[in-house]
Amino acid sequence: MPEPAAPNRAATAAKIAANPAAYKVCEGCDSIVGSGTSLCPNCHGYRFDPASERVVHQARILGSREQTSVTADDLN
Ligand SMILES: [Zn+2]
Repeated sequence: MPEPAAPNRAATAAKIAANPAAYKVCEGCDSIVGSGTSLCPNCHGYRFDPASERVVHQARILGSREQTSVTADDLN
């Protein structure tokens, strides 16, 4: 899957919402990170909510407003 140099938030959010099992939500700052992440790159928290509905919910929020919480490094 080709990776765009500068993915926009809406596209990233849609990608996350389409495959929520590959992600989880940081309990500390509500960032969406890859499911293999053990430490949040934003707040350095280590508690995550892997529930798909939570991931999709957060993805919709992120896609609807400009936020810096989605870490592109995790989207490979
Ligand atoms: Zn965090």
